[in-house]
Amino acid sequence: KIHNQLVQLKGNIRVLCRVRPVAGGEEAEGVLTFDPDDDGVLHLSDKGKVTTFDLDKVFGPEATQEEGFSEVEALVTSCVDGFHVCIFAYGQTGSGKTYTMEGAASDPGLNQRALRLLFSRVADKSPEWEFHICVSMLEIYNETLRDLLGDQPAADKLDIKMNPDGSGQLYVPGLTRVAVRTVDDVNQVLEAGRASRATACTDLNERSSRSHALLVVSVAGLNGTTGSRTQGKLNLVDLAGSERVGRSGAEGGRLREARHINKSLSALGDVMDALRRKRPHVPFRNSRLTFLLQDSLQGDSKTLMMVQVSPVAADAGESLCSLKFAQRVR
Ligand code: ADP
Ligand code: MG
Repeated sequence: KIHNQLVQLKGNIRVLCRVRPVAGGEEAEGVLTFDPDDDGVLHLSDKGKVTTFDLDKVFGPEATQEEGFSEVEALVTSCVDGFHVCIFAYGQTGSGKTYTMEGAASDPGLNQRALRLLFSRVADKSPEWEFHICVSMLEIYNETLRDLLGDQPAADKLDIKMNPDGSGQLYVPGLTRVAVRTVDDVNQVLEAGRASRATACTDLNERSSRSHALLVVSVAGLNGTTGSRTQGKLNLVDLAGSERVGRSGAEGGRLREARHINKSLSALGDVMDALRRKRPHVPFRNSRLTFLLQDSLQGDSKTLMMVQVSPVAADAGESLCSLKFAQRVR
């Protein structure tokens, strides 16, 4: 209880970690150690040196999708009351980001669970409230935005604009928005987005490790009696792989991609760090990702960073980098 209250006091950023299970044949002995007394502590051993990280919560490999989701329920629910929320999955390729966000058909991840919960919360509201839930899906690849639900997905290059009404809200002119009312609607949209992502490249895994995928859910409420309105937004982001590609002798297109990824992930870290320290200047404009999410990161917005970690010995160096990122933004 007290621990939870302290977490609340620390502000609007929560940083969780999820360790994926060891797959057959992988060597993971002694790399990660969980603390039996504190579920926020994780010890990582890399090249004989042990580093301890203190996060809001660490999920071990046995944690279910449902357990992971229970930590974010309150955030998702707050969108119905007009809050803006960002949930990120961060980590190297193969650490379980897409598993956490999309999950498997038989065991869905955060994206589908969040929408299900929104539908049920909206239904729970008193009948004078009417809600419209719309979703957009987009991809940021090499600092270019692409609509994943548009008619001509490959051709669309989108811009980000500030709403001239002075509200500080950002929007993407031309971005497709699809109204969803049921879980079936949602599944159809998610499937269409996935398919459109796949047609843009020969290898979806390759592409998805080098681009950010965003599912943006807007939750607009209108009270028919009082006329008051709420405008909540939930951004669910499967980030590009955080591995340091540039160091392994990448060239040409690969190197360009790596530079863009490094730039946007470090911009995200810088923005979260500046927000946490309540700095007067927050460098939102340093990447498309942070610029697009500006109105969902600042003010009384809420952010959850799910840092995904591989348990594998060969990945310990990358795990160290991911956990350092987590510790920095917390
Ligand atoms: P990323 O998106 O970070 O590249 P993936 O989500 O594709 O990583 O995960 C890599 C592999 O590990 C996939 O085969 C995925 O199904 C599996 N995996 C990841 N996390 C879990 C988990 N918590 N439980 C079971 N399998 C997982
Ligand atoms: Mg992935």
